[in-house]
Amino acid sequence: MPIPAHGLPAEELFRRLEMYKERDVSWRAGKILTGIYDPGGETEAVVKEAYTRFLTENALYPNLFPSLLQLENEVVRMVVDLLQGDGEVVGNCTSGGTESIMLAVKSVRDKARVERPEISMPEIVLSQTAHPAFHKAAHYLGLKTIVTPFDLQSFRADPAAMRQAITPNTILLVASAPCYSHGVIDPISEIAEIAREHNLCFHVDACVGGIHLSLLRKAGYPIPPFDLSVPGVTSLSVDMHKYGYAPKNVSVILYRQRALRRYAFFASAETTSYSVLNTTVLSSKSGGPVAGAWAALNYLGEDGYLRIVREVSEATRQMLEGILELDDVYVLGEPAMCMFALASRTLNIFELDDEMTRRGWTLQPQFSAGGGPANLHVSVHYSTVGHVAEFLQALRESIATLKERGNAGAQEALALKAEVERLMAQPDAETFARIVALAGVEPGRLPSNFARINTVLDALPDSLVGTLLLEYLNSLYA
Ligand SMILES: *Cc1c(COP(=O)(O)O)cnc(C)c1O
Repeated sequence: MPIPAHGLPAEELFRRLEMYKERDVSWRAGKILTGIYDPGGETEAVVKEAYTRFLTENALYPNLFPSLLQLENEVVRMVVDLLQGDGEVVGNCTSGGTESIMLAVKSVRDKARVERPEISMPEIVLSQTAHPAFHKAAHYLGLKTIVTPFDLQSFRADPAAMRQAITPNTILLVASAPCYSHGVIDPISEIAEIAREHNLCFHVDACVGGIHLSLLRKAGYPIPPFDLSVPGVTSLSVDMHKYGYAPKNVSVILYRQRALRRYAFFASAETTSYSVLNTTVLSSKSGGPVAGAWAALNYLGEDGYLRIVREVSEATRQMLEGILELDDVYVLGEPAMCMFALASRTLNIFELDDEMTRRGWTLQPQFSAGGGPANLHVSVHYSTVGHVAEFLQALRESIATLKERGNAGAQEALALKAEVERLMAQPDAETFARIVALAGVEPGRLPSNFARINTVLDALPDSLVGTLLLEYLNSLYA
């Protein structure tokens, strides 16, 4: 496709953009329960305005744009205060949780290179419930992940298993507050104690929970210590573009000490180019996201955020109570905030997902792992408040529909799983293509029957799921 020979009139261009958007999910309805964090109405408008005012400014050059330096420093100081850090704690704004985690891992790796040069393959110890971003960081940065089992009742990290996994090569322990998948907080204080005993760095991934949990604590809800108030926590990630209700892409990485952050930075003066000096992975970067985060913090203020977390908590409580009354679904573990995972012992959970989709709701399928069942993730946010009754109604209807169908879906799921296992038992050159066909995945196209695909994927070994999804992704993009 060549670029148009003649530029399009703005009107025509925007018409086309809106047309492209027509097939997207309509997130404004508050029924997208993953990946969307919508403060709604006026806040959204103010934050967007702040964002666009700094869209063109380049945060690579704090000398040219001291405004961006000031905005970033103020965002970081406000987050440090919320997460109960002292004057020693420093931080930076990044493009998201993944980048914050990447920098946390790099800081610890480079510190170890200096202080423990005898280690050739450094190791990170983390629960299977920790976010994939740590595996990505290890992959990019050349570290090994040592994954420990989680508690099958609570879905929390198991400190004893983590302690056992420590070797002479361990440089970092990781825990989540809360983990994204199940919304439960790991035993942070216990793991911090282990880190201190072994003189290890300890990163708390508060990407999704940092802001929301801190506000719940301020509102008087019982929240176990998870932040910089816990001795032994050496770095912490907090996404502003989740429950900070800032626009994407902005997160904050906090380091207990300036000396640790020094290892996250990068400088290069050896080329013919200008000297590159980076606080983060990105080099050129828009000032928009940081301005957006600053605007969210200042526009909402503590009282604005408290109003949001109280309403979101109440909505979540009502959803959980409603779910308790249903026989066919249940919630995994004890969710700490406004996120939970829904499982079923009687239905194919992926079919339930498709039924919810048909009724306008977007939940997030998560595959079985480590002994925990396949489930649907739900993140409640401000725009979901007011739709609780509808959600429960949709859930009841979806369950009823599946049961009316005589649970053929669950039978079919078993048959699919058996077929996948049969193919996997004697793999040959054709196995991969057969499994793809079985799942109903068509290269280069977005799928429609998700239940079938998810059922097949769930039956595959984890490593193969990764390979399959990568092939698919590689076919999807131009
Ligand atoms: C979302 C999330 C991440 C990754 O953040 P991105 O902004 O998607 O890069 C990491 N950890 C947790 C707990 C998260 O919820």
